Amino acid sequence: MSSSEASVSGALFILSGPSGSGKTTLIRRLLDEGELESVSFSVSHTTRRPRVGEKHGRDYHFVSDSEFDGMIAEDRFLEWARVHDHLYGTSLDEVLPKLASGTDVLLDIDVQGAQKVLETDEDRFGEAVFGVFVLPPGYLELKSRLERRNLDAPDVIARRLDVARAEIQRFQNYDYVIINANADRASRVLASIILEKRHDKARIRGQVAAVLASFPEPESALEDGPTDT
Ligand code: 5GP
Repeated sequence: MSSSEASVSGALFILSGPSGSGKTTLIRRLLDEGELESVSFSVSHTTRRPRVGEKHGRDYHFVSDSEFDGMIAEDRFLEWARVHDHLYGTSLDEVLPKLASGTDVLLDIDVQGAQKVLETDEDRFGEAVFGVFVLPPGYLELKSRLERRNLDAPDVIARRLDVARAEIQRFQNYDYVIINANADRASRVLASIILEKRHDKARIRGQVAAVLASFPEPESALEDGPTDT
């Protein structure tokens, strides 16, 4: 899409879903394909250790417990939560400047963090906050994805599946649900949701005003306009 179609002020898209639902891959795919302009991922802070292949500053800002506590004390988080025994948080610095420059921002956060943003930040973000819940196609597929990716010990996987059972009940708090059976298709659905929201008449108001203002006044329009022959 052309940059003239991009939104003047960005929207916040909150993606949640159980571990293994594929949200991270879905977001990466959307960003790597580069089909959508003006969209960016909010890199969270976490106290958990990096996994093999994860990069500081790209996947997460990996910080110590005391650094994280310091950020809480300085009120630097939009939201934070304890998930699977570690702390995770979205810093305001990751989100506000991007939104102000018209970039849409994707958050990959858990259901607790999502609830905080969806409930308490209406005034801050106006109507431009949307929740997208990503579901796996079923329990057995989720279990086998967690086992196949070989990142966690069996007891951790068992705990993640228990958490998943509780988390999926919260889909009602979100605006959209994507059942992620196929990563390609799911990332196209996510792109469509983002695009559709850019054309909401409330959000596109500034650009519409510019188009309307480009039309001449009625008298000169008659003089300059096409004539019937
Ligand atoms: P993982 O350790 O597998 O990368 O992520 C575990 C969970 O933490 C995922 O559900 C992920 O969405 C969530 N998470 C990642 N970053 C944040 C964050 O900044 N805030 C909250 N509340 N949850 C997060």
